[in-house]
Amino acid sequence: MVRTEPGTAALDAGLSSTPGEAYASQRTKGFRLLRFSPRLEAEYRAQMRAEQRGSTLICTATALVIWLVFMSLDAVRLGLPGEISARNADIFAIIGLRMTTLAVLTLLLFCLVNNRLPITYPRLSFLSLVMIGMTTCISVNIYKVRGLPQAELAEFAIIMAVFLPVGLTFRQSLAAASLINVNAVLAGYAMLGASELPAHARLSAMLLFASLVGAVGAYLREHAQRDSFLLSRLMRYFAMHDPLTGIGNRRHFEDRATAALKQARRDGAPVTLAILDIDHFKSFNDRYGHHAGDLALRQLARRVALCLRRPLDITGRLGGEEFGILLYDAGPPEAFAIIETITASIADLAIEHDASPTRGHLTVSVGAAQFDGVESLETLYRRADLVLYRCKAAGRNRAMIDTAGPSIAGCTAREPDQFQQA
Ligand code: GH3
Ligand code: MG
Ligand code: MG
Repeated sequence: MVRTEPGTAALDAGLSSTPGEAYASQRTKGFRLLRFSPRLEAEYRAQMRAEQRGSTLICTATALVIWLVFMSLDAVRLGLPGEISARNADIFAIIGLRMTTLAVLTLLLFCLVNNRLPITYPRLSFLSLVMIGMTTCISVNIYKVRGLPQAELAEFAIIMAVFLPVGLTFRQSLAAASLINVNAVLAGYAMLGASELPAHARLSAMLLFASLVGAVGAYLREHAQRDSFLLSRLMRYFAMHDPLTGIGNRRHFEDRATAALKQARRDGAPVTLAILDIDHFKSFNDRYGHHAGDLALRQLARRVALCLRRPLDITGRLGGEEFGILLYDAGPPEAFAIIETITASIADLAIEHDASPTRGHLTVSVGAAQFDGVESLETLYRRADLVLYRCKAAGRNRAMIDTAGPSIAGCTAREPDQFQQA
């Protein structure tokens, strides 16, 4: 049962939701218009761009080959050499459009193969599709005007291609299809004779239907993709984060700490591992109740996380009332300065603990060990744990660091009052 004690409301105040809740609340709110909150939308787009790079590459390479075939057919069927010397304007138009599209497709393929401009490649996909669609409509009309057999069905294939997974969102695909449709209608009315207009109107209507069918399929596909994105992010978040405090759990901390030690071995960077443990937390729970204990854990976790401002520093809840802190590129003096900031910030919370034999408020002990440059995370952790044990034995409410490799002879103690000035 949750006991309401004086001070509990103060602990509750200011506690916000964990980042993982953003995925859950977006799922609950829904996304019928296929748009998330700005932060999630950026995350989703980045993942989609990365995932669809391979399929875009295949589609672009295929489109390029087909485009070259179309260009060769133009040369033969339109009799290009003769037409060029006759300086016919429509021939220059078709050559210009085909060459521009070829250039855009080649640029897109270059970006995809070299993984350049990963953020802007969807824009090039969009431009390629619109160029292919417009050029095809115009060239079909030129063939019609010249009385040559033409493949207007190709326009349907292009409308469907707009909805392929080529890095575009549903809205972008719909915009591309609409542009192609409008262009098809206008180009027909501008270029064709009156006798061809009824057939042109039928073709335009069919293109519109094809766009609608493609759009419905694309909408359903993107909706399912967005849902599975939220689900997979949620699962990853829950697998790696502590549900109470919202910071990383032991697995997350160990994964990142192992990677950081590997990097430190390569770079010869100093690293300090610290274990922070709340003093007399059992009696805090007994005195104020588990709910107050949970709130205190959340507040402490937040203070620790807020004090770690450098990008490579890591924290995580190791279990119970114990937190891991890994300080990268920090030897004993820098590590002590950061630990001091953390303990001062926790003392600042002034969470009442009148059952504590140490102080009238909640205190912590921090055992730290300096990485010797070669050891495993397990060994480093064991050394920090030994130092923590010494802190507890020496009276709690203090931090010590082992600076002397495998032994703990080099421990430095800070007197409790030095931590409580803040
Ligand atoms: P010491 O100063 O020696 O560390 O004493 P302690 O009481 O803090 O340590 P001990 O290991 O005896 O007790 C840890 C307590 O932490 C026991 C448990 O009830 C409490 N605890 C662990 N996880 C949670 C949690 O998620 N919520 C709450 N409210 N309490 C927790
Ligand atoms: Mg404890
Ligand atoms: Mg403990």
